[in-house]
Amino acid sequence: MAAASHCLEVSENDKQSNVTTPSTMKELPVITTNGDRDYRLEDFEIKKTIGTGTFGRVCLCRDKLTGAYYAMKILEIADVIRLKQVEHVKNEKSILKQVIHPFIIDMLWTTHDDTSLYMLFEYVCGGELFTYLRNAGRFSSTTGVFYAAEIVLALEYLHKQQVVYRDLKPENLLLDREGHLKITDFGFAKNLTDRTWTLCGTPEYLAPEIIQSKGHNKAVDWWAFGILIYEMLAGYPPFFDDNPFAIYEKILAGKIDWPRHIDPIAKDLIKKVLVQDRTKRLGNMKNGADDVKKHRWFKGTNWDDVLNKRVKPPIAPKVKSDGDTGNFDDYPEPDNHQKSPPLSEEELELFNEF
Ligand code: AMP
Repeated sequence: MAAASHCLEVSENDKQSNVTTPSTMKELPVITTNGDRDYRLEDFEIKKTIGTGTFGRVCLCRDKLTGAYYAMKILEIADVIRLKQVEHVKNEKSILKQVIHPFIIDMLWTTHDDTSLYMLFEYVCGGELFTYLRNAGRFSSTTGVFYAAEIVLALEYLHKQQVVYRDLKPENLLLDREGHLKITDFGFAKNLTDRTWTLCGTPEYLAPEIIQSKGHNKAVDWWAFGILIYEMLAGYPPFFDDNPFAIYEKILAGKIDWPRHIDPIAKDLIKKVLVQDRTKRLGNMKNGADDVKKHRWFKGTNWDDVLNKRVKPPIAPKVKSDGDTGNFDDYPEPDNHQKSPPLSEEELELFNEF
């Protein structure tokens, strides 16, 4: 879908990779002219898989030089191509390079070799909000407000950057050591003002559905936000079924069952967000995120305190040491002897600048 990368800027990593290292200095970190560390794959020891996606895995790794822990996302290029994820992965990288926010995962570096793509992230050791929600059954309204407020600020920021996230769910919300949120997995994120539109495209010739970009509009994030609040407070999402088609039917029918215990003020907010007509959906109207922030559910919320992490998190993750993976499930490790077939030059070229 995204026609972005053809017209995008030269990557920072490309600028950095020109630095040469004398062989006697191999064990020392490479410092680039701008003072940033220029990482190399061999600097990292892969410790353990802590998460898997459809076409890759996320591993805890340790920097051999500093001892610091990071999360490395590893994607096999062959899988990315086979599953038609090339543009998504490129979007993920370019958007993560563009965003800096307290509640959004920090991407530090990317690279590739002749089989895989690598993305280096800060390690968020508290695990997924999903796990805490399933263990608790459901959250109290106060706990819900805490997480919802951090998400509101992250969405507000992304939308101001013209980025639509498109994958809000408890599995993609990680808890840091203190218990604040970090949104992860930007695999479906999309830049709404792709530079190609202004630089390379011809606006007059674009079809209405491209301009309206139905399904790509930031309104989809506010819808997901409503689903998330419901799920936090009820313990399950408002529309669910074993069969995905039945879920779609329920979403379109829009009938929601309200458990008695749901806070009526939260219910009012959820109803105003889960509006089928996106022009009337809270968050997506003239005042944007401000309408959501001013809703009564957030009456006691000081937004400046939220942004500066001055609000005490309701859940403090148990973390024994820096590289503790106790908050993540165990996953089978890949068979390193099983080499993936070599890629053609054409295939490799797709990620030359990664
Ligand atoms: P992703 O493919 O980005 O959705 O990542 C899959 C899973 O890996 C996530 O749901 C998390 O459980 C875990 N994960 C991803 N990024 C990180 C990170 N920076 N720190 C800790 N765990 C992560």
